[in-house]
Amino acid sequence: MDYKKTGIIDINKVVLPQNWEELTRFFPVIECIEKIPCNPCSWCCPKEAITIQGDITNLPEIDFDKCTGCAICAGKCPGLAIFLVNPNFDEQYSAIIMPYEFRPLPVENQKVTLIDRHGNERGNGEVVKIRLSSAFEKTPLVTVKVPKELIMEIRHIRAIKKSGKSGFRDSGKTWEEQLAQQVAN
Ligand code: SF4
Ligand code: SF4
Repeated sequence: MDYKKTGIIDINKVVLPQNWEELTRFFPVIECIEKIPCNPCSWCCPKEAITIQGDITNLPEIDFDKCTGCAICAGKCPGLAIFLVNPNFDEQYSAIIMPYEFRPLPVENQKVTLIDRHGNERGNGEVVKIRLSSAFEKTPLVTVKVPKELIMEIRHIRAIKKSGKSGFRDSGKTWEEQLAQQVAN
């Protein structure tokens, strides 16, 4: 079905590295297919791995050989269109770094419900890392372990509902306080 009608991208139209299934490191999956005047992904990349050729409305292109997997582009993209994936995070699981702008944030080691790009629940995963950085604007990045076969499908998480309660526990801290706490740690 057409993206213009569904709002859901066809992953087969996204550029991926050669033999990506065999990689054991994070690489970006740029799910940006709307020609809009936007370019933070290109100017924020410290390795100049992402470029937008010519007009600012052209789509970003990536040179995977230059990319170090730092994830700054994912935290900077205003469209939340960049994810990083590691197909072989460990023996059993892949991992996805996803921008997450909901509050409160999950916590590390928390089990979560995995949501695919159609909005369907697809079982459980585990948060392994939360990253906040002044380099990301105010978009935290959440790293989640997912079953390997779901690496190109899962693009969101939700708290597992327990005893009538839903949502992640609110730390009561502002974004700035959480960032300061992470830096202190
Ligand atoms: S992950 Fe880092 S190095 Fe790779 S494209 Fe994004 S900003 Fe550049
Ligand atoms: S910053 Fe995000 S939305 Fe803007 S061009 Fe880059 S990938 Fe697309």
